[in-house]
Amino acid sequence: MNSLGSENANSLLRQIPAVDELLGRESLRALEARVGRRLVVDATRKVLQGLRARISSGTLSNVSAEMLEKEIVAATESAAEFSLRSVINATGVILHTNLGRAPMAREAAEHLAETATRYSNLEYDLAVGERGKRDAHTQGLFARLLGAEMTLVVNNNAAGVFLALNTLASGGEVIVSRGELIEIGESFRIPDICAKSGAALREVGTTNRTRIGDYAAAINDQTRALLRVHPSNFRVVGFTERPTRAELVTLAAQHHLPLIEDLGSGCLIDVAPLGIRDEPWAGESLKAGVDVVTFSGDKLLGGPQAGILTGKKSWLERIRKNPLFRALRVDKLTVSALEATVGLYLRGDLDAIPIFKMIRTPAEEIGARAARLAEKINEAPITAEIRDGESVIGGGATPGQSLPTRLLALRWEGHSARDLEARLRQNSPPIIARVENDEVLLDLRTVLEEQEGEIVQSLARIRREHGIVNIDIK
Ligand SMILES: *Cc1c(COP(=O)(O)O)cnc(C)c1O
Repeated sequence: MNSLGSENANSLLRQIPAVDELLGRESLRALEARVGRRLVVDATRKVLQGLRARISSGTLSNVSAEMLEKEIVAATESAAEFSLRSVINATGVILHTNLGRAPMAREAAEHLAETATRYSNLEYDLAVGERGKRDAHTQGLFARLLGAEMTLVVNNNAAGVFLALNTLASGGEVIVSRGELIEIGESFRIPDICAKSGAALREVGTTNRTRIGDYAAAINDQTRALLRVHPSNFRVVGFTERPTRAELVTLAAQHHLPLIEDLGSGCLIDVAPLGIRDEPWAGESLKAGVDVVTFSGDKLLGGPQAGILTGKKSWLERIRKNPLFRALRVDKLTVSALEATVGLYLRGDLDAIPIFKMIRTPAEEIGARAARLAEKINEAPITAEIRDGESVIGGGATPGQSLPTRLLALRWEGHSARDLEARLRQNSPPIIARVENDEVLLDLRTVLEEQEGEIVQSLARIRREHGIVNIDIK
């Protein structure tokens, strides 16, 4: 910087208003009343710091209090936003683990809100006026829906599998087929869970073929349980073999061993009539005689994060008595949301469960929604076209299967698809989309109808700002 430049900079630095002067301005005082002094002061300091840096580097030629005020308001507003926010899932992945898996039913959210803000009979038996058990609230529902003798609810399915193994197989061996030694996202690995539970893993068979005889040959006086695992997010195809559930039930019973089945996603109803193949449902496992069945609450069940352990009373009572059950139990919010969600199955109201509504929507209906939206969006410099595509269920359910859908393919003239994807992601609420072949793809299957307006508005804003030179002030 030459001497003239640094003189300029010095004069600009002298023009910067004092922090207190800025804080006294009308808009900042109003903001402070809303979000508290701390956030406004922090934002003011941050903006002034950035300003000084820009003056020193010669990228700023004048300073005005109005400009600063605007920047401070924006910085404060962004700091005051919740970190955990709702987003628009336009990826077409129905159970997207990164986006919170299943969105809950309205009824579940309402029951949860009431339970959260009031006292409840969580562990209080209203009939006798004494201490009760939190299990009671969901027990009867699962009994009616699945024919279960007893059901326990824990924090998630990983906890459920761990607790079952820790109770029933710790200090001994658990037999698992080599074709089922799976890893699902975020380091849930069957061998590791076994090791931590204190059960020694006894692998049988091969990756692609395991027969009932392999299990039978492995049973010895150290054997404590047989474990069957849903292969979840992968499939072995071709030359494969796996014993039937009935064969395993018979073998386990002959040796007085419990058969534990990790169903993974776990459905409460048979979903084959909905066109979802190979997804076992809990009632079928229980009817076949499996002793303990475990599955997730926020996958195909469509409820809150939870792990459900259901099956025969003799085994589940032992699991209930494990001191670790207390450490893994769920809170009243989960109990209430789960109770309300499972209640919808009893009522037979599948469309009230958002993921089932999404799964059941035909591609033509999604295409019609996409076409209506395209009409509102298609205006230079943004183009929107309709394409055939595929949605997936996700969450480890039904790998290799997809649902035909219609996609909204967006382009932004003069910009890459990555640019447009990033702009949509920075929208409030953020819109999460896929990028393929330099197009942004929106799948409305996972977008709630009331969110469609947000997509139109977001694109209108991008269009408005297009051409306006935007100096990034961060
Ligand atoms: C998803 C899954 C789990 C883990 O369930 P969480 O509820 O996420 O803990 C365990 N086993 C299988 C087979 C799964 O698909």
